[in-house]
Amino acid sequence: MKAHIKKIVIHTKKRKEIVNITQRVREAIDKSGIKEGIVLVNSMHITSSVFINDEEDGLKRDFMEWLERLAPEGDYEHHAAGEDNADAHLKRTLMGREVVIAITEGKLDFGPWEQIFYGEFDGQRDKRVLIKVIGE
Ligand code: ZN
Repeated sequence: MKAHIKKIVIHTKKRKEIVNITQRVREAIDKSGIKEGIVLVNSMHITSSVFINDEEDGLKRDFMEWLERLAPEGDYEHHAAGEDNADAHLKRTLMGREVVIAITEGKLDFGPWEQIFYGEFDGQRDKRVLIKVIGE
């Protein structure tokens, strides 16, 4: 069994943004040389997410609008600790920390519309995403 790790840095211009990272995951799989196995992709921060869905601009706006309704910016108990980003922590938990995808014949074994996204909810600074490829 082999293992290959890649950490990528994402620095969004906006505080909240959805970034398609599918190609960067494909590059890590290619570099690993692993043909059969799994890839784990996770945000290393508690105010951003990694999730799988469709590359469609309207849907990405829908996700952000839905998250804003569930976890609006505003006052939270967390802010008594001197922070201002409780909404981002809540959004991260709603959208999830990581995804795991099968690798078959050296490729992401995806359904027809699946893409990997990084969801940033408190950005405008360097954030890291871990890509770990395991297999042979
Ligand atoms: Zn916080």
